[in-house]
Amino acid sequence: MPYLVCSKCGDKYSVKDPVWKCFCGGLLDLEFTPVFDRQAIAARPHSMWRYREALPLEDDRNIITFGEGYTPLTTFKLGGREILIKQDQLFPSGSYKDRGAAVLISKAKELGIKEVVEDSSGNAGCAVAAWCARAEIACQIFCPASTSPGKTAQIEMYGAQLVLVPGSREDTSRAVLAAAETHYYASHAWNPFFFHGTKTWAYEVWEQLGWQAPDTVILPAGNGTLLLGAYIGFKELLAAGETQKMPKIVAVQSENSAPLAKAFREDLDYVPAIDKKDTLAEGIAIAEPVRGMQIVQAVRETGGDFLTVSDTEVEASLVELSRQGAYIEPTSAATTAAAARYLVNKPPSELAVTVFTGHGLKSTEKMLKILEHRRR
Ligand SMILES: *Cc1c(COP(=O)(O)O)cnc(C)c1O
Ligand SMILES: [Zn+2]
Repeated sequence: MPYLVCSKCGDKYSVKDPVWKCFCGGLLDLEFTPVFDRQAIAARPHSMWRYREALPLEDDRNIITFGEGYTPLTTFKLGGREILIKQDQLFPSGSYKDRGAAVLISKAKELGIKEVVEDSSGNAGCAVAAWCARAEIACQIFCPASTSPGKTAQIEMYGAQLVLVPGSREDTSRAVLAAAETHYYASHAWNPFFFHGTKTWAYEVWEQLGWQAPDTVILPAGNGTLLLGAYIGFKELLAAGETQKMPKIVAVQSENSAPLAKAFREDLDYVPAIDKKDTLAEGIAIAEPVRGMQIVQAVRETGGDFLTVSDTEVEASLVELSRQGAYIEPTSAATTAAAARYLVNKPPSELAVTVFTGHGLKSTEKMLKILEHRRR
């Protein structure tokens, strides 16, 4: 039987318990042994649910799905070099957060939960609100007052109650924690079921590469919701004997908000306080990531690295990809900017994969600013 375990004190909880953190305050992880049957997987519809025996839902009737996932793995050019990019901007709500929301909100339904709260700089809120709409679960989404209107409008259209919090992203996190005292917290940072949705990114890459793991994956690291999911997914494939190696994880932060890169470089065993500055890559500007040390340890364990990118590089990467017909949001271009830098001087034999995390259509006002800036 799967169970939840505290990463701090080791206490265990049943997966039937609607908990999102340990009574000691520690982070919970899900202990779960997935099963992979390549023949069965290959015969199923092209969605992330084709890995059904690897997803921690007890009863199929609780699955809330739009048929999402199995996004295309497509070649694009970055800095003149070719690289495979997984097009996760094509999810129903416009970002890879749908992977996490699909599993987490299905689990909430399985637990009989009627109302959830979540906080987000935008896309996680959109994803949770979309799945709650389909699951007929009430939800409140807390966002910083500065969140793009393209995202807040989407959240409200799905029927969620939007709570705009003045101040920083960290102020929003504090506000939702008060609401989480009395509601189920469908948190993409705390709730372990979210990561058992984002792990399907790794499964899909593995299948699309002909059932093999790449050498390197280049992934964003704010709260690390995709990065830690990919780490879990590739680790599960390795443990199941489905792959022979663990890909090297290269984590990406904005140089204006890079506490984890600092912890990595200075070999710290805690996430240092930083003086966060504004950045085009607002979606990964997380000063106090709750799973920060898990992210740093995952990168260390795989022999990976941290790269930090400037807003100038983010803008250049966004334009380079737009000119190839890929319309992604600025935060998403932080990862591709780092991937471009990573590829310089790497042998062509190194199989690297990165991701488009979010769709450009939610960021019109930022795109207009960039266009204006470039016309001057
Ligand atoms: C959520 C998100 C990321 C990654 O953020 P994490 O905080 O590391 O989970 C990257 N790009 C976009 C567009 C996102 O929505
Ligand atoms: Zn504990």
